[in-house]
Parts: sequence; C-alpha cells; structure tokens
Amino acid sequence: NNFNKYSLSAELLKAISLLEFISPTEVQKQVIPAVLEHKDVIVKSQTGSGKTAAFAIPICELVDWEQNQPQVLVLTPTRELAAQVREDIFHIGRFKRLKVAAIYGKYPFHVQEKELKQKTHVVVGTPGRLIDHIERGTLDTSSINYLVIDEADEMLNMGFIEQIESIITSLPQEWVTILLSATMPNDINVLCSKIMKDPIRIEI
Ligand code: AMP
Repeated sequence: NNFNKYSLSAELLKAISLLEFISPTEVQKQVIPAVLEHKDVIVKSQTGSGKTAAFAIPICELVDWEQNQPQVLVLTPTRELAAQVREDIFHIGRFKRLKVAAIYGKYPFHVQEKELKQKTHVVVGTPGRLIDHIERGTLDTSSINYLVIDEADEMLNMGFIEQIESIITSLPQEWVTILLSATMPNDINVLCSKIMKDPIRIEI
C-alpha cells in the first residue's frame, strides 16, 4: 500500500492494512516523515483529516518496546478524546504489542494507578488527572521523549494552560513536541515558542 515509502516496520504496516488505510491523508503525508526525523511539529488541521494517525503512526514506529517507563505523553482536552486517541494508538501499535493507558478524571484513581504500575509505553490523558498522578508519584514522566498536545485550542479555551506548563516542568531535558490545533490563536504561538525548537509548521 501507499504507506510503504515511509520505511515503517512490518508490524506497523500490518496494523495499517488491517485498519484499511490505503493511502496517507494530506496531513499524514506531511506529519509522518517530520516526526520520523524527530522534528518538533505544529499541525493546523481539523478533526476528520486523519490527524490522530498522523502522529500515532510515526510515534508507534519510534517507541522502544523494551523500555518500561512511559515514553509518550498525549494531552487531550476531554475524557472522550483521550479514550478515542487511546483506542486509535492501540490499533496502530497492536502488532508491536504496545501498552497504551488512558488517564482521565471521574474514573477511580487506584485502578489507573494499578495500570500505570505495569509496563506502559504511551499515556493519553486529560491534564488535571495526569498532574494528580505525577504529584503522587504514580506516573513517571522522566522517560517521556514525545509530547503530543492534541486539540491545543480547545485545551487553552478550557483554561488548561497552567496545567500544561506544570506537566512540562516534570519532563526530562529533551523531548519532541507535536502540537495539533484547528485554529492558531496567539496564545498557542506563545506556548509553542516556549517549548519548541525550530518547529516545522504544517497547515492543511
Ligand atoms: P481523525 O482526524 O484522527 O479524527 O481521523 C478521522 C478518521 O479517519 C478516523 O476514523 C480514522 O480511522 C480515519 N483515517 C485516518 N487515516 C486514514 C487513512 N489514511 N485512510 C483512511 N481512513 C483514515
């Protein structure tokens, strides 16, 4: 299929075929190679453009299965989106046997704590509950090397900017950021300039 040109592993190509994705969407054509090259990326695109797979495909490719601590942190504005993104990443990473946890509020803390004690490659969640886990020491962010901020404009509208900044202070020295947003108000550019180095801007 038309994903062959990205030199993805057999596990990823098999998962993509099972999902019946024949060709990459426009956003995927631009985001997949940029993330595979470890670039910071700002993506302006709408839901429905295939934006989730655009970051999930290269990230699932780059995850090191052997490592036990979470390597990828995906921030979403809502529980529903967190659950959806978890599902999408699970399907893309299934043949690589990636462990993906969804962490959001109004769900028993101790159940999430148990899940996070097991091997977890990717954590998807809403800012408030993620901070609870970071503060209580039940989520280790010291090995995160990919940070995804999904629906960034929604996150800022919902007043999550301070929480996002607080999560960022718990990250290690170096990581790659992928920020996705339907609109690009100035506060998003301000956030990007604080946390990214020479980002690639992709507009669909
Ligand atoms: P999203 O923009 O991430 O909400 O994705 C919208 C829908 O497009 C989801 O149902 C995906 O499963 C689907 N999708 C993503 N990438 C592709 C692709 N390359 N080919 C066909 N469908 C896709």
